[in-house]
Amino acid sequence: MTIGFETWAKDGAARRGRLTLAHGTIETPAFMPVGTAATVKAMRPESVAETGAEILLGNTYHLMLRPTAERIAELGGLHRFMNWNKPILTDSGGFQVMSLAGRRKLDKDGVTFQSHIDGSKHRLTPERSIEIQHLLGSDITMAFDECTPHPATHEQAADSMRLSMKWAARSKEAFTDRPGHTLFGIVQGSVYDDLRRESVEALTGIGFEGYAVGGLAVGEGQEEMFRVLEATTPHLPDDAPRYLMGVGKPGDLVGAVTRGIDMFDCVLPSRSGRTGQAQTRRGPVNLRNARHAADPRPLDADCACPACTGYSRAYLHHLQKADEILGPMLLTWHNLHYYQELMAGLRGAVEAGTLADFAAAFAEQQAAGDIPAL
Ligand SMILES: [Zn+2]
Repeated sequence: MTIGFETWAKDGAARRGRLTLAHGTIETPAFMPVGTAATVKAMRPESVAETGAEILLGNTYHLMLRPTAERIAELGGLHRFMNWNKPILTDSGGFQVMSLAGRRKLDKDGVTFQSHIDGSKHRLTPERSIEIQHLLGSDITMAFDECTPHPATHEQAADSMRLSMKWAARSKEAFTDRPGHTLFGIVQGSVYDDLRRESVEALTGIGFEGYAVGGLAVGEGQEEMFRVLEATTPHLPDDAPRYLMGVGKPGDLVGAVTRGIDMFDCVLPSRSGRTGQAQTRRGPVNLRNARHAADPRPLDADCACPACTGYSRAYLHHLQKADEILGPMLLTWHNLHYYQELMAGLRGAVEAGTLADFAAAFAEQQAAGDIPAL
């Protein structure tokens, strides 16, 4: 093992643990804010850390195009480049390249694609993806895979998953072992239980220190996603961290932790913060709505973030309507703070053995909705 992962409490399938990487430790279950282009949009990295985040996600696709992985390596690596000294996980670039419909060509060795920035031609293979993530200096490197589109027939999903398993073996081969740095494999197989099983067997055969569940939150719906998790996580090794990629809404996090997931990433808290939507314990609140225009109350009286302690709903509404930069800044901070609070609550509940009560109280508060208008 080049990284450390220990779990010391369980509640059903949920686990409470700690992951130790080159740049620090992560309490699990954990949520990773997304720093697409070497920045969590509208936040200074110091502020992201203040929300309680212990690890960020960076995007290989965006960074390889601009400013390039080689430039970042020359400047001391991604941690130094963006002034974030805690762990970083990078994706493989596969997901974003595959979603460049009409601008990419898949073959058995990799993908050739055109940049969305200037149309220039690029190529990603398992070996190149791993090399880029090495240049960036990621604590956690992700294997290069094809995210199977949804919906897919059994045959399409099988072909896609088996290609990803070949690429997973090549990713492992290309990965350079360094203390505190690791490579995660990615389970694919769409919504088919037998394919998810086959994928888990292929990956555990290759041997990884962590396992991601990919190809979910692509339009299958929450119920189906939970069903696939129930068919997948019980087969994953107990002693390795499990990461559900690209998920999700607060309710998705609660449900997936209950089903044995340890790590998440999602653009939702930061992206929705930039469009005026706050994620709260009482569900989503749209600050652009006229009902907040004269409301002197805080967004959430029980939230300790700067947006809730210093400002009124009326002010947050005004910033959104006037397109002021401070609006996205404050709401992104609140949303990231709320996500970290939710994860801390989940960790406490798993440790106390009260996860079912926590999940019930969470669902009840979400269903009750926002405080009544004045
Ligand atoms: Zn707040």
